[in-house]
Amino acid sequence: MKYKRVLLKLSGEALMGDLGYGIDPQVVAEIADEISEVVKMGVAMAIVVGGGNIFRGVKAAAAGMDRATADYIGMIATVMNAMTLQDALEQIGIPTRVQTAIAMQEVAEPYIRRRAIRHLEKGRVVIFGAGSGNPFFTTDTTAALRAAEIDAEVIFKATKVDGVYDSDPHQNKNARRYNSLTYGHVLTHDLRVMDQTAIALCKENNIPIVVFDLSVRGNIIRAISGESVGTIVGGFCEVN
Ligand code: UDP
Repeated sequence: MKYKRVLLKLSGEALMGDLGYGIDPQVVAEIADEISEVVKMGVAMAIVVGGGNIFRGVKAAAAGMDRATADYIGMIATVMNAMTLQDALEQIGIPTRVQTAIAMQEVAEPYIRRRAIRHLEKGRVVIFGAGSGNPFFTTDTTAALRAAEIDAEVIFKATKVDGVYDSDPHQNKNARRYNSLTYGHVLTHDLRVMDQTAIALCKENNIPIVVFDLSVRGNIIRAISGESVGTIVGGFCEVN
């Protein structure tokens, strides 16, 4: 095992599957199953969930809503995803805690850093909901922030593509996939790995990011073992 403490970033879309909106319980069950395998290997797993399958602040703001209000709604949407994932994990016997950055004490613990670390040490999966608690941020940035706070060795950014390309592989058949990339290259070329704030935070704290396709069964375990499953940001630049 290469990594012992991992921050997994799951976008809202990852929970949506092929639906246009919301949550596909079958997809969530499959993700929970993969996570459980890794947890049983003794890996401490913290998860930041997005909310784009339900509500996206930027989009609502573009349609005329006050941006901060829209972002708060987006953050609340992530809590629904966090609780859904919690349920799926607990159904298969994995102990979990949800911690939210906006207090909702009836349904989840408030975010308390030291308590989150304690849960991880006890083998519980900690799911962070409500993003960072601040509008104008994203759950990608939250993932970078929480990874730094809990001392995660790496961020696993689960997506629907198998890594980072130098151009859009759907539009350019000669697009090349990177095996590894520097933070600087991602920032200067504005490659869509995570938003720039998130990349900058990872760079500052030296947290590598592994970008991989979550829909390929076994990818989380492969990534944990240090196998090359996509693109790793943090080292040097190398194309496939
Ligand atoms: N959000 C926010 N602050 C945060 C995290 C999230 O305001 O720290 C809001 C923002 O409106 C965002 C929404 O929550 O659009 C859902 O999160 P995100 O878009 O990052 O989810 P993902 O793309 O990962 O599904």
